[in-house]
Amino acid sequence: MTTAYIGLGSNLNDPIRQLRAALAALEQLPESDLKQVSGAYSSAAVGPGRQPDYLNAVVQIDTRLPAQRLLGLLQDIERNQGRVRTIRWGARSLDLDILLYGEERIDTPDLTVPHPALGERNFVLYPLADICGTNFVLPDGTDLGTLISRCPRNELLNTGLQLQPSS
Ligand code: AMP
Repeated sequence: MTTAYIGLGSNLNDPIRQLRAALAALEQLPESDLKQVSGAYSSAAVGPGRQPDYLNAVVQIDTRLPAQRLLGLLQDIERNQGRVRTIRWGARSLDLDILLYGEERIDTPDLTVPHPALGERNFVLYPLADICGTNFVLPDGTDLGTLISRCPRNELLNTGLQLQPSS
């Protein structure tokens, strides 16, 4: 089993509904168990023009899927939720990124892990710390607390919204 972390983001078509649907789909991934889910964070969009705010979260899965296969299945989920690729960094109903895949470093034309922007994005680092804690060490030896200390929270807000139905 490999422990992987996946970033979820949406700023279109009812983002909370998008993230909840994505979570339900992630629970159905083959050869995988959904282990932890962060809070849902809102942040201002980065990208061209004026866009609605984003809602972001991070989940931990344990999986036997190879990273490339996982990427393919995440892209299926994005497509099923109506994501149409138009302009780069444009608004999207659902974005799923592989942030970390165990200790592995992957650098292929369609997959870079750890995700190259992980260290610069408050909407990734803060939810990741929710589930791993700030002592968590990345494959390059940097701990999450150090990255967070360099990445201000700014307007990032934990909405307190529940992504998973309470059982
Ligand atoms: P984006 O528009 O930001 O969702 O970028 C999607 C593209 O990034 C896809 O074509 C993926 O093949 C590529 N990609 C590279 N590394 C990753 C990663 N770690 N997680 C998800 N997509 C990735």
